[in-house]
Amino acid sequence: MSDNPNLKDHRVIGQELDLFSFHEYAPGAVFWHPKGWIIYKTLQEFLRTMLSHEGYKEISTPVMVKSSLFKRSGHWDYYNENMFNFDIEKETYSLKPMNCPEASLIYGSKTRSYQDLPIRFMDFGILNRNELSGVLGGLFRVRQFVIDDAHLYVRPDQIQKEIHDLLLLVVNFYKILGFIAEFYLSTKPDKAMGDAKLWEEAEKDLEQAMKDAKVKYGIKEKDGAFYGPKIDIHIKDSQGRDWQLATIQLDFQIPEKMKLEYIDKDGKPKRPVIVHRAILGSIERFIGILTEHFQGAFPLWLSPVQAIILPIADRHLEGAKKIKDKLAEAGIRIEIDERSETLQSKIREATLQKVPYMGIIGDKEIKIDSLSVRTRDGRDLGLMEVSKFLKLLKEEIDKKT
Ligand code: ZN
Repeated sequence: MSDNPNLKDHRVIGQELDLFSFHEYAPGAVFWHPKGWIIYKTLQEFLRTMLSHEGYKEISTPVMVKSSLFKRSGHWDYYNENMFNFDIEKETYSLKPMNCPEASLIYGSKTRSYQDLPIRFMDFGILNRNELSGVLGGLFRVRQFVIDDAHLYVRPDQIQKEIHDLLLLVVNFYKILGFIAEFYLSTKPDKAMGDAKLWEEAEKDLEQAMKDAKVKYGIKEKDGAFYGPKIDIHIKDSQGRDWQLATIQLDFQIPEKMKLEYIDKDGKPKRPVIVHRAILGSIERFIGILTEHFQGAFPLWLSPVQAIILPIADRHLEGAKKIKDKLAEAGIRIEIDERSETLQSKIREATLQKVPYMGIIGDKEIKIDSLSVRTRDGRDLGLMEVSKFLKLLKEEIDKKT
């Protein structure tokens, strides 16, 4: 943790910027306010678009399922203490703590050929895990959350290429947000399950993929899950803190337990390998990290309010509304400070709310269809025509800086 007393906790920022709240009626579950939900949806939409270009298909599966599914997938023995389980009509049900078993039911719902693979399912399902109420902490530790989850069903000969492409995707994604991703390969633990040769080859494939993708990586000896080797992804935030966000995890066990198959070239059924992967990990936790990293001053494309118009006097309100409509129609998230306050106080409030751009409008500006533009960090960009201001915003949003 940084010692800088000016740095705020995301819970404080969340309240000041009206992003989210927690309530005693739902410990460890987030209530997203309109502004926070914009950040959430914007991140999710960005991922959706990026992944659909990469050949991912989105699925959605039930939040509540019979516990017998987790017994079949093998999760029950290791995980049931962290699950919410309850009886309905003499049957035990669970809130899903992970998406994989259900995604695998979709995979298994029809005959798959070797030519159909890889199959990439992305999934933004709501997950519930039973953390003790004493260890809950803002967005960093919640009971209900969404992972930017995906399950890739691949043939063993496709592992290396799939992981390589995935690494580049992760690197690019983090570059956009200004983070450098670091990678760690976790190798076979002593209590590993499954075929030793498969393990050995998979570890080699993962390492080769990291070499080919030219990413820096370290090794975490014997730190893999019992069901397959994995790559952990870390980033460092603006305060120098290290965060493990997600893993790329190979899995040889679920395909076995759930009897997943594809028909190979030789006409015989074979087991696919599952790659579990997430880029952000829990979206809730990731927004917590971003909130502290940016201290609430989110980049323009993620800012809930991207620009605010500050009329100098009430008589400028009508002109302000016209400009607001024009920019809103062009897709800008824009508001007007309609309060009868001084300009100085309006600027102060917009600055505290971390609104990236302020457009001041008075007699002079109205006459020439312009705004006097300021930034939240106090830069004065001077008089600017509305069309030019829109162009500036659009370019910065597209660049995602
Ligand atoms: Zn999974």
